[in-house]
Amino acid sequence: MPDLTDKAAKAYSDAYQSAIDDVISRYPALRRLSAADAAVMLQSVDFENLFRSNYGMDKALEGLAVSFAKEIIVTPPPPALPSTEVLSAALQFQVDAANSQITQSAAEIKKTMMNSILGKQSEAEFAAALKSEALRPDQINSYVNQNLRTFHRTVENQMAEANPEELYIWDGAPPKSDECIDMVAQGALPYSEWVANYGAYLTSGTHYGCVHTLQRFVQAGQLDQAKKVREEQGIDA
Ligand SMILES: [Zn+2]
Repeated sequence: MPDLTDKAAKAYSDAYQSAIDDVISRYPALRRLSAADAAVMLQSVDFENLFRSNYGMDKALEGLAVSFAKEIIVTPPPPALPSTEVLSAALQFQVDAANSQITQSAAEIKKTMMNSILGKQSEAEFAAALKSEALRPDQINSYVNQNLRTFHRTVENQMAEANPEELYIWDGAPPKSDECIDMVAQGALPYSEWVANYGAYLTSGTHYGCVHTLQRFVQAGQLDQAKKVREEQGIDA
């Protein structure tokens, strides 16, 4: 089931996809110009700004921040809250990274467009070149998703550091990697044990695309996944 992180990453890659579609639909008109005129015109277009404002990628970025503000509210709230300065700095780094990707993608697409015009490529050929040279929407999606999950883990770790006497589980979708299966099977442990045994994974996840994060243990139902995994693995309860 898609969570808020998946939804935010999808909104972002959808905005990227519609920008790409629009660029492709404008290509035939540019191609009809002479190469010199097309070059002058392309030079004058603020591609990056087009991407940010016209195609809604900036809005999608804002959406990321908002969805995160919602996601990190846990019920009941922990006794101590982590520093908001640290959290907002951590989020800002993720937004900056996504931002620099828009800059890079816009430049990449412009370059591909110019090369295609010079090579007198058809719209279909241009679309194919874009696919191989610019980032694909699914790559954008997994990149943003990965960054957001890392941020989410950072938030949960800060929460745990501020409340070390509480118990925590390794939470998320049914685990697939051996490391996550092992971690989910541990059930609820004090933060110190997580750090001692799994410290390397707590903020980065166990692999690229890992959807798991520490979560404070507040109710029995949170152990359902751990029970299931222990049964599947034949570990005595
Ligand atoms: Zn995982």
